[in-house]
Amino acid sequence: MKKIIFMAATALQIISASPLMAKRSHGAETFNYNVDKFADLQILRYRVPGFEQLTTRQKMYIYYLTEAAQCGRDILFDQNGKYNLAIRRTLESIYRNYKGDTASEDYKAFVVYLKQVWFANGIHHHYSTDKFTPAFSEEFLVKEVKALPAGELPLRDGKTADDLLAEILPVIFNPEVMQKRVNLAAGDDLIKTSACNYYDGVTQQEAEEFYNAMRDTTDTQPISYGLNSRLVKRDRKIYEETYKIGGRYGEALEKIVENLEKAKEFAENDAQKEIIETLVEFNRSGDLKTFDEYCIKWVEELSGTVDFICGFTEVYGDPLGLKGSWESSINFKNHDASERTDIISRNAQWFEDHSPVDDRFKKEKVKGVSAKVITVAMLGGDCYPSTPIGINLPNADWIRRDHGSKSVTIENITEAYDAASQGTGFNDEFIPDEHTRRLVAEYGFVADNLHTDLHECLGHGSGKMLPGVESDALKAYSSTLEEARADLFALYYMGDKKIMELGLLPDKDAYKAEYYKYMMNGLMTQLTRIRPGDNIEEAHMRNRQLIARWAMEQGEADKVVEIKNMNGKRYVVVNDYKELRNLFGKLLAEIQRIKSEGDYEAGKNLVEKYAVKVDADLHNEVLERYRSLGIAPYKGFVNPRYTLVKDENGTVTDVTVSYNEGYAEQMLRYAREYSFLPTYND
Ligand code: ZN
Repeated sequence: MKKIIFMAATALQIISASPLMAKRSHGAETFNYNVDKFADLQILRYRVPGFEQLTTRQKMYIYYLTEAAQCGRDILFDQNGKYNLAIRRTLESIYRNYKGDTASEDYKAFVVYLKQVWFANGIHHHYSTDKFTPAFSEEFLVKEVKALPAGELPLRDGKTADDLLAEILPVIFNPEVMQKRVNLAAGDDLIKTSACNYYDGVTQQEAEEFYNAMRDTTDTQPISYGLNSRLVKRDRKIYEETYKIGGRYGEALEKIVENLEKAKEFAENDAQKEIIETLVEFNRSGDLKTFDEYCIKWVEELSGTVDFICGFTEVYGDPLGLKGSWESSINFKNHDASERTDIISRNAQWFEDHSPVDDRFKKEKVKGVSAKVITVAMLGGDCYPSTPIGINLPNADWIRRDHGSKSVTIENITEAYDAASQGTGFNDEFIPDEHTRRLVAEYGFVADNLHTDLHECLGHGSGKMLPGVESDALKAYSSTLEEARADLFALYYMGDKKIMELGLLPDKDAYKAEYYKYMMNGLMTQLTRIRPGDNIEEAHMRNRQLIARWAMEQGEADKVVEIKNMNGKRYVVVNDYKELRNLFGKLLAEIQRIKSEGDYEAGKNLVEKYAVKVDADLHNEVLERYRSLGIAPYKGFVNPRYTLVKDENGTVTDVTVSYNEGYAEQMLRYAREYSFLPTYND
């Protein structure tokens, strides 16, 4: 199951320019969301509304947590590829010392490449994981490296600039070398063909055997095997290099712990103090049993306002799905908006009981749904600059089962996406009529947030397995089907009158905005993220196309949804929203059956028939129209800056937040202030 919702394509590509929206985002008219734009990326900034209203103690707590959040940055660079730190530090040095022609094509392409490397925390695209192709010449790089004094270069002991170049040039320029960060193509040795740095010298088979031997299949509370280590083979021996103080990445973990301990002094309650103590202990020992203790304490602490993630968490960066990449998110509860998720959580059993799935697959008792809306104060590691808009942790299944999970929606991030997308022309290009455009402008943002809440708080937690069905019965199709199940649960209920009764949407037609966007996105506009000729691979994208295509096909006779050709362009038209809702309910029932019964063949057929293949002709048209709008398909964020305010005695009296740092400026400052790892961590 995916535990993080990646930026929903809807939120990514929207939409909307209504006066209502501008008012909702208090003072948005004076806040400059746009920071930078290059390659396929747009850099935004986000506001931290409510920070000023926190107590000084809470602000201090946040301040030291945000420091910890940056100290792990280099860990992620190294995890993403063993040459990333050497390359980044070399490029940064050139950038800082460059005296040549800044208008030359080589230099301009060099700057774009460096900005891409910063964004991806390495030399592979953050989303596709393909290696970046530099548009500057090898000669340019060689010349600039050689022009630098040795002290400005990240050299190995006793080595020269030539040695450095010999090591990094093929990695940067040869398309055959380290071409993909995470390769998931069945049949390949996934470790040998993936450039990530979680394994060294071992084959996929050796790694699998290593962890299979370790696993105790009778343990009902298994640790997350391999989460915090690199697996290496030296002198024919295979062993783990554990991430801990005194072990791998120890220099950075020490700084993280230092700041966590400072933060602890300002914690809001004893439970938070214990959480930090346990996390610190884990960083010292590397013992994964301690990590589980930390996760349990963390998931059970619900009374504080401030919360955080700071450690080895998600496993998407490892083709075997074991190794956790370092990430951090420091946040505090948005009490007003959390009323919405509280209402949903309180009514969880009602939703379960009334869902259109077969009673045999329903949960008699829904439990452990804790959900809130948060304001993020700082993003770090694998949450920066590209961030999810919702998080659901911890990942260990048994902890989720016995202790529940925390689910959050990050509203100041979705707000920034929404604000930045205003006036891009996207709606005018892809929505054919004024009525629907207005619907989407008016309700798109609230409906989107509600969809995310329902997906996270209810969707994933709904339903049950029949006795004896293995939880991994759906194998490679499980992620896509799981996301589809959660999306359908949300979609189905958005059109229910219960939502209006609970006051979760402002108008009885508001759900139509979500339905329309969902269908438009799943049938057409999400294809902007796929390169010509490629299939859809990512689970969330597959799920969206599965739902949209299936619903269009099932409703074909009644023209429920159509792709219509008007004036030489194709548009999605929804003719019957009520019937579309029924279709969502039908598919939900079927996918729940597939999951509950572990019906692999049926699951496979659905995904292969509807979710994977792309209509090449339509794809080209969408890409062409999208390109003409000049919108970057991927977005990320610079962080705000926090400053301690001291009185004449040096006592801290307040913490202020400011929003004026630029992209390159922030990246260079982070490199200056938070580089604790050696360049080479062989
Ligand atoms: Zn999900």
